[in-house]
Amino acid sequence: MSISSNEQAVVDAVIPRLLVGGEWRDAGAGGTFPVEDPSTGELLCQVADARPEDAMAALDAAVAAQGAWAAHPPRERGEILRRAYEAISARADELALLMTLEMGKPVAESRAEVAYAAEFFRWFAEEAVRIDGRYAVAPNGAGRLLTMKQPVGPCVLITPWNFPMAMGTRKIGPAVAAGCTMVIKPAGLTPLSMLALAQILQEAGLPAGVLNVVTTSSSGAVMEPLIKDGRVRKLSFTGSTEVGRKLLAQAADNVLRVSMELGGNAPFLIFDDADLDAAVEGALLAKMRNIGEACTAANRFHVAEPLAAAFADRLAERMAALKLGRGTQDGVQVGPLIDKNAVDKVSELVGDAIDKGARAVVGARPGDGRGYFYQPTVLADVPADARVLKEEIFGPVAPVAAFDSEEAAVAAANDTEFGLVAYVYTADLKRAFRVVEALETGMVGLNQGMVSNPAAPFGGVKQSGFGREGGAEGIDEYLEIKYVAMNL
Ligand code: NAP
Repeated sequence: MSISSNEQAVVDAVIPRLLVGGEWRDAGAGGTFPVEDPSTGELLCQVADARPEDAMAALDAAVAAQGAWAAHPPRERGEILRRAYEAISARADELALLMTLEMGKPVAESRAEVAYAAEFFRWFAEEAVRIDGRYAVAPNGAGRLLTMKQPVGPCVLITPWNFPMAMGTRKIGPAVAAGCTMVIKPAGLTPLSMLALAQILQEAGLPAGVLNVVTTSSSGAVMEPLIKDGRVRKLSFTGSTEVGRKLLAQAADNVLRVSMELGGNAPFLIFDDADLDAAVEGALLAKMRNIGEACTAANRFHVAEPLAAAFADRLAERMAALKLGRGTQDGVQVGPLIDKNAVDKVSELVGDAIDKGARAVVGARPGDGRGYFYQPTVLADVPADARVLKEEIFGPVAPVAAFDSEEAAVAAANDTEFGLVAYVYTADLKRAFRVVEALETGMVGLNQGMVSNPAAPFGGVKQSGFGREGGAEGIDEYLEIKYVAMNL
């Protein structure tokens, strides 16, 4: 299916250029790069391909705007976010379609992401006026201790392709609320949602230079000089652990303050006392939301031995019934993966598991025809040495392995360098708390298959990163604490 006129209109409404100091401009060298529809591999449009000097101009604009923006009344900063929240909500349908075109997920899921993305603006609109400090009498009674919170300064923000809008608002919202200016770089695969968002923020009254957007096909060369520029005060990155490591090394040069939202390998534990119906429902959500392309996606299912076979069969039955197709079509529940590399990686992990003795209950092959599809897959009896249990799958594949004790389940769950999220299904309250406390993750879904919530602190431990986005904690990532010792 080729692009329809309605779809073309949504793409054409995006300004495919760089936003620098409030002006939309072409890349200095005039270059562009293509954005394609992963369901067909067809070209959607070309966007400006920034070079290092363009990104430096964006940073210059952010630095120039910082002083005035920090002094801008918090209520007005919040109201800009609130207006942007309203505008995103009003335009949810067209933004969802745009997201589906560039990223592939079914339109209903894009709508859910648009709503989730908007909620970060609503949340941080409210947080902007709650930035406060502390006043205390020194323990010896002689002096006074005052603490104040101030914007950290110009930020560099880098976001991934899998949630092209929400990963942006989760950073832009608190940065705007705190009084920071920024240069943001969306993933080259999905720049359109970010460009649409920037237009909305401009229309909502965000002053020139506060938000600058750089799109590029050479992320490394374009972003490294910014990360190493002494005027930048903060780097916030969401993406793979592999790239996060490189950026941490670059940030070390200037001892740059960083937040890292990196990869995951979420275990989904089902104990023998769990409600199996609820566990299958939760598993489907935790696995198939975003076509399995989520850092929070359940990556491996560890199931109590007596339930393992029944769970695999029931999950397989549900997965087999899901409709695969272009995300714009009615009733489609599973869209394409983002590109050919993603399909190859998933195929490789499934092949490795089967070679080592796993049994394919359903799926285990790419889609037919064009586009980057992979069939929803359940693998049973997956052996402990299969790569699929250790590496981030980022696709619609559910490996199931059995455990014979609570200790073994917790040990398997923690046997990974990642620590973003874990899911636990049990009806036993004491066990629930024992297991939750023993899990080495930043988040736990207890008898539920989704944790994301703008009002909660999202983030990981171990090699899933550090820092928290959302919740009351989210704005602190963009604030410095200054302590004043007063001799009264
Ligand atoms: P990625 O390859 O690490 O890319 C993330 C971002 O970094 C993109 O904008 C990418 O741009 C950019 N980038 C890549 N190399 C860079 C470099 N050398 N210097 C500067 N920027 C660079 O990750 P992805 O494939 O887009 O996203 C999937 C990953 O994100 C998964 O591992 C997932 O778990 C993780 N993720 C984590 C969270 C979380 O909150 N913990 C949320 C969502 C996703 P280009 O692609 O255009 O080069």
